[in-house]
Amino acid sequence: MNSDCIFCKIASGEIPAELVYQNEEFVAFRDLNPQAPVHVLLIPRNHYPTVTDMEDPAVIGRAIQAAGEVAKKLNIDNDGFRLVINCRDNGGQTVYHMHVHILGGRFMTWPPG
Ligand code: AMP
Repeated sequence: MNSDCIFCKIASGEIPAELVYQNEEFVAFRDLNPQAPVHVLLIPRNHYPTVTDMEDPAVIGRAIQAAGEVAKKLNIDNDGFRLVINCRDNGGQTVYHMHVHILGGRFMTWPPG
């Protein structure tokens, strides 16, 4: 745990969030500033600042799999959804604890802004 990290604090329960899913490795909660009817962030309990700090590809794979479980749980899997991982400044990352955005409940346009 990184004591300065807001998402570590959400994972540990120190800061409240609306949790929608959790297992031993990941936690998923509603984004405070939703960009779609369903907007959830999936985070690993372990602190990795960015996706490129995740050296074990198996952890990345399990994160994507868990995001799919969240989509099923929130009933956006049949209509479809979008997973986004922003990485560093040009990617638009603002919180440096790797997170997967799970966006659904509306049609997503392309390209992103
Ligand atoms: P990113 O720009 O990819 O780093 O995404 C960070 C996301 O975290 C943004 O969509 C924020 O709205 C969201 N966020 C920041 N603080 C919180 C919080 N305390 N609870 C829920 N979502 C948060």
